[in-house]
Amino acid sequence: MKTMRELCTEYQNIVLDLEDAVAGTGFRGKREIQAPRIILQKPAADQAALSRTVPPVLEEAGGGGAGGGMEALAAEIRSCRLCRLCEKRTQAVPGAGVPGPLVMVIGEAPGEEEDLRGEPFVGPAGKYLDKWLQAIGLSRERNVYIANIVKCRPPGNRDPSPEEADACMPYLLRQLSVVRPKSILAVGRVAAQNLQKTSEGIGRLRGRVGTWQGLPFLATFHPSAVLRDPLLRRPVWEDMQTLRDLIGGTAGTAGTADADTASAG
Ligand code: SF4
Repeated sequence: MKTMRELCTEYQNIVLDLEDAVAGTGFRGKREIQAPRIILQKPAADQAALSRTVPPVLEEAGGGGAGGGMEALAAEIRSCRLCRLCEKRTQAVPGAGVPGPLVMVIGEAPGEEEDLRGEPFVGPAGKYLDKWLQAIGLSRERNVYIANIVKCRPPGNRDPSPEEADACMPYLLRQLSVVRPKSILAVGRVAAQNLQKTSEGIGRLRGRVGTWQGLPFLATFHPSAVLRDPLLRRPVWEDMQTLRDLIGGTAGTAGTADADTASAG
């Protein structure tokens, strides 16, 4: 009987061959990438371990394109116990939105309401975020996907630890591969610092266009912080205008939105 390492090596070789074939044809459809799935017909424990190495090209085939891949990944996240945040959660919060969005919004972690409902950014801060997005023609129903650095609520809404963020990061990277956004908006210090691997404060990180995983990247304040401090409304609105420019105005805009419109509570 083959060891787990041998199985993984064999599997990865097949994946590399597959990726070469796909790169040669430009084809990313379902039929060509079903065969390696047969390799995964192993006991449940082995499948779980192997699935953590499944590359994006296979995730896309996970039951009907990006949508199927998103659902399969969400199911895996909901049953995850890779870090201690699983102990106190009501449920994990994988993410929400549409595949192929103009913007992937990345926050810090689920809060109390998100933990109860299983959806990201559904409390007052989430409604406020929706207004910012709406002001530049974006919405999670049409052209946005929203996720967090960690998928389970840290007790007392504390910051996730570096270990917890590291444990959860592979899920975010896999979401990125499945969702395939055009740009990234990090909201808040924790998200911006984790994605940019820096300890710089959000006051310095915000508003600067950079890259993350090869995609245009912008950071701004967290909506909760802006709800607490109205002086942050103006810089957030400037950041939303930068984001609008970044996506090329393709979302359409609310037209006459200004700082007050964007930050109307
Ligand atoms: S926070 Fe992420 S890594 Fe930790 S248990 Fe939840 S899903 Fe798993």
